Amino acid sequence: MRRHVFLAGVALASLTPVFARPQDDEFDPASSSTTQALRVLLGRGDAQAMPGGGFTFDGRPYRGTFVRDPDGNIVTTVALEEYLYSVVPREMPPSWPPTALQAQAVCARTYVLQRSSPRRTYDLVPSEADQVYGGLQSETPAARAAVDATAAQVLRFGPGFAQIMYSSCCGGHTEASTDAWGGAFFPYLAGVVCTHCGDSPNYRWTRDFPLAQVGLAFAQEIAPFGTLTGIRSTALDGSGRIRTIELTCQRGSASIKGSTFRLRIGARALPSLLITKFDTSPDVPDRLTIEGGGLGHGVGLCQWGARGMALEGASSSDILNFYFPGTTIGHD
Ligand SMILES: [Zn+2]
Repeated sequence: MRRHVFLAGVALASLTPVFARPQDDEFDPASSSTTQALRVLLGRGDAQAMPGGGFTFDGRPYRGTFVRDPDGNIVTTVALEEYLYSVVPREMPPSWPPTALQAQAVCARTYVLQRSSPRRTYDLVPSEADQVYGGLQSETPAARAAVDATAAQVLRFGPGFAQIMYSSCCGGHTEASTDAWGGAFFPYLAGVVCTHCGDSPNYRWTRDFPLAQVGLAFAQEIAPFGTLTGIRSTALDGSGRIRTIELTCQRGSASIKGSTFRLRIGARALPSLLITKFDTSPDVPDRLTIEGGGLGHGVGLCQWGARGMALEGASSSDILNFYFPGTTIGHD
């Protein structure tokens, strides 16, 4: 389940404290990087303070403190580094090599902090992220070690935080953010050739769809042109991902964006837009066969590539410099 994460900027006065952290604790949300606090909206449910610190939410143990907001939602305040203990193993298998987990930890930390100012006070405007946070039950020793080994490290581009993107497997070439979503150009998100993710079960895949299913998904677009009779890709972007697709019908054709095609067919049914074969077969003209590679949007860190580089001996900074070229690792 995805949860919304709010940085420590919500007006505290509107919240009713239910459980206060002990005064002798070193926790100080306004001080250094390793003690910055996040406020995580856990939602409605039963929360109980635990003796010795932490609390349970619907029976699951969490670090930090909590309050119940006026809407009845439980909001926890947790130190950033302790939050990462739980997030990293949910975003990357904790059995993966240490330096891959360390790269993920730096990404996860930057992802959160880039949505606020490192100099923020308790009153800054809250912002949202959507990294999975599962409390103590999600933590593993390997993930905690990766967070500790990179404590306070963030990815920077110039003086600011780098925009952090990651996906499971790029299939051999990471995607430019501008090709995936448009928007501002980031030189470190322009796409790189990746030769490290071949162990992914999604490195290469084949999918097969009845042409009629595609026709149904685009019924509105092809309505003026009659029944769908064929389909082909008409343009690729710089990484080899499909940019436009032509739907050929009895009385004309319609052009659609590759991203729209994946959205309509379903992101699970079509793992990525890095496609090497996209055609109906002369033998089976009523079916669309797609051969492709990778899983996810492909922008930024290729997680299976990080694993591959780690197995090849790369450090976390080697990995991050490869997938985000021109960035530096700094402290927040
Ligand atoms: Zn890759």
